[in-house]
Amino acid sequence: MKYIFVTGGVVSSLGKGLAAAALGTLLECRGFKVLMQKFDPYLNVDPGTMSPFQHGEVYVLDDGAETDLDLGHYERFTSGKLSQLNNLTSGQVYENVIRKERKGDYLGATVQVIPHVTDEIKGRIYDVAAQTDADIIITEIGGTTGDIEGLPFLEALRQFKDEVGHENVAYMHATLVPYIKAAEELKTKPTQQSVAKLREIGIAPDVIICRSEHPVDNDLKRKISMFCNVKPEAVVPFVDMKGTIYEAPLKLHDQQLDSIICDRLGLESKEPELIEWRNMVDRIVNPTHTVKIGVVGKYIDLMDAYKSIYESLTHAGAANDAKVEVVRIDSGDIEQNGPSQYLDDVSAILIPGGFGDRGIEGKITAAKYARENDIPYFGICLGMQIATIEFARNVCGLEDAHSTEFNPFTPHPVICLLEEQKEVENMGATMRLGTWEAKLDSNSKCAELYGSTKVNERHRHRYEFNQNYKDNFESKGFKLVGTSPDESLAEIIEIPDHPFFIAVQFHPEFQSKPTNPHPLFKGFVAAALENRR
Ligand code: GLN
Repeated sequence: MKYIFVTGGVVSSLGKGLAAAALGTLLECRGFKVLMQKFDPYLNVDPGTMSPFQHGEVYVLDDGAETDLDLGHYERFTSGKLSQLNNLTSGQVYENVIRKERKGDYLGATVQVIPHVTDEIKGRIYDVAAQTDADIIITEIGGTTGDIEGLPFLEALRQFKDEVGHENVAYMHATLVPYIKAAEELKTKPTQQSVAKLREIGIAPDVIICRSEHPVDNDLKRKISMFCNVKPEAVVPFVDMKGTIYEAPLKLHDQQLDSIICDRLGLESKEPELIEWRNMVDRIVNPTHTVKIGVVGKYIDLMDAYKSIYESLTHAGAANDAKVEVVRIDSGDIEQNGPSQYLDDVSAILIPGGFGDRGIEGKITAAKYARENDIPYFGICLGMQIATIEFARNVCGLEDAHSTEFNPFTPHPVICLLEEQKEVENMGATMRLGTWEAKLDSNSKCAELYGSTKVNERHRHRYEFNQNYKDNFESKGFKLVGTSPDESLAEIIEIPDHPFFIAVQFHPEFQSKPTNPHPLFKGFVAAALENRR
């Protein structure tokens, strides 16, 4: 087993996760089995309780783990199967250590960061290694070198190489090489200092990924090489991409990152097979058509809050030979100014998942606008609940219909909690989570798109469609076309008498891959193209 540890310096949001994932792609294309994991130094047990404003989207795995959005990159860039073991936080580490201490497992020892906390961290790498048939594990460490809370993780990684042999471990460090406009110069000092911080802890990077807005020339590479004690060829420029993030593996391959890593770890392989990946990138970068799709949400200012949705639209666009121009619309604005000025020039409307009542009425207005004007509509999780509330109020005539999440006293709780959710007190990891099977009506549009009447999709929600209203809805043309196998839970609704109106209780965006777009997104973008305005 070989191990690659990816750290970051200078600033966050460097694209460290992207670089790690892109390295994963390259190693897979060389024929290796790769498994990726993320260590996050914050004290939350998982990101499930964090606001998207703080931390971007919560990415959900098959087994229901609520994880960091970097795991979304890992699943889109590699094929290794991820589970809750693949995202470790300080919160989990300390929870485990304290549980062991209370049980008396430490046999009277003074429990300390070194060795007990660092053992717990290394233990997770060994656990993952024991359960996988992968050849290489890539572990990304969240945060930046120099952070107090990251120190136990870095110390654990330092110890790790001595346990498994340094020849089996490579350290890759991503830093920023900023451009100072006034001097018209790229600066290496922040890189030097962040590498110095790493070396202070006892980690000498084998590769330095230099994120920069401008090309890094050979002189600069030599300078970084000398000051940071790495080979000149192991200083790998990672310049901003203009077309798409999926170019990252190709750019890093141009800089020979994969062969440098393989040499370092004594891995023998042929050149990577990148044709399929290149073709996919070409489809994304050079499409024939363009189509505007409105995403109506409340975390709209933040690119990371609906990350997987935007990525899925890109994948689906490429499959339709089209560039999807996402128009990000704040549902609060629709509440204030009405839908027309925001929705008149989009060809389709998507309402993503969400929590909390701010902006809900604006989303309901957007769903109504889509339904009445024959504009393709795709509702995801909350987006399905919104479509249900809208139809109940405006077609079924159920005045003040609502979800009990937003109005516990509504006379028509068309979306409500199941009995078992009413007992729940804790917020963390208590929703309906992870992959559930759904069976589809063979006469539905979604069955046609999936090419199947049995699908598995990932969930993250508490509230459900209230089946007491099913007959009323269906008699008015709002069809329940997908349910759990025992039919107790609603999974998909459609309005057959509409060009494209599909809403799902699950999150299809977590299963779309650039080389294998999700069928519902593909169908949605195709419908948008047909409705081009
Ligand atoms: N807030 C809704 C629920 O809990 C929808 C959740 C979501 O969109 N992920 O059911």
